[in-house]
Amino acid sequence: MAVLVTGGAGFIGSHLVNYYLRNTDSKIFLIDNISTGQKENLPKSSQVDLIEGDVRDSALVEDIVRRSDVVYHLAAAVGVENIVENPLDSLQTNIEGTQNVLDTAAGDGTPVFIASSSEVYGKSPEVPFSEDDDRVVGPTTVPRWGYANAKALDEFYALAHHEENDLPVVVGRFFNTVGPRQVGEYGMVVPTFVEQALAGDPITVYGDGTQTRCFTHVRDAVEAVHELMNTPAANGHVFNIGSSQPVSINELAERVLEITGSDSRVEHIPFEEAFDEDFEEPTRREPDVSKLRETIGWAPETSLDRILEDVVEERRENVEASS
Ligand code: NAD
Repeated sequence: MAVLVTGGAGFIGSHLVNYYLRNTDSKIFLIDNISTGQKENLPKSSQVDLIEGDVRDSALVEDIVRRSDVVYHLAAAVGVENIVENPLDSLQTNIEGTQNVLDTAAGDGTPVFIASSSEVYGKSPEVPFSEDDDRVVGPTTVPRWGYANAKALDEFYALAHHEENDLPVVVGRFFNTVGPRQVGEYGMVVPTFVEQALAGDPITVYGDGTQTRCFTHVRDAVEAVHELMNTPAANGHVFNIGSSQPVSINELAERVLEITGSDSRVEHIPFEEAFDEDFEEPTRREPDVSKLRETIGWAPETSLDRILEDVVEERRENVEASS
């Protein structure tokens, strides 16, 4: 059995690789251009074959997809700051890359998992979000909605291949997946807060901090992904993957301060100052996970405190190793 994980050197991808190594003897191909991912995320194993390349390279994608029995397509331009600063590159990666994967997989009927995002719901005020709910996205002049729409287009494309070519596909919409190995530099909130707290720097909360998010441990999310790909009833469906426990960003900052024992202060920065005048931030992001629960019996196991403890422990180990 051979598995392809695109974006496998990234945060979620590398945890999926670990899951496969722990539970199977599959050959694991990775395609990753090491842009936001890192080789250090990967375990040293003869089962793992990292091909450094771009998912926009259709010849490369065709070659590796053809050698694989199942594909997890996670490669993408991610992170709000990254998307806002590099809109064109982000759109090309997130649209062309996905089309390359799906078009090739459709030729051989190779099952594909498509990593989508809670961003597709946009700024809809109707929480919790169910998979078939309407999407409310902003104007084309605001780059973040380009990411939301690219991911939505990926979903349309995957479902169209399923419909017309019987391609086995599962679409997973991740909601704030967090844990060890996630990096803060592209705008991810948990690693950013933890690093600021450990350094004794101010914790920078954008806006008034009352906006809420639901945080899921990457280990729990990866288990859901694997289970979905091994459940026939999931084929051709879209699933929310995430915890349904909302936490405000102010509360998150407080939990980080308590767990790290840091005396950093919390500093609120207006969104317009952190990004630009047009920036929009949805106030609530909460998944309805009943479809996921009914299909694979999944519920997230890890509490927010446990997630934060794991991240803090990893960051402390990294600091010790580099000093
Ligand atoms: P990540 O940045 O760690 O992983 C993305 C990986 O894709 C990186 O290793 C990066 O180097 C690689 N990559 C980027 N552009 C590429 C290209 N053109 N060709 C080949 N490789 C490329 O981020 P992640 O959090 O692990 O995200 C994985 C997937 O999950 C993405 O599709 C993302 O949109 C989705 N997602 C993640 C979250 C989350 O909370 N982490 C939320 C919603 C959706």
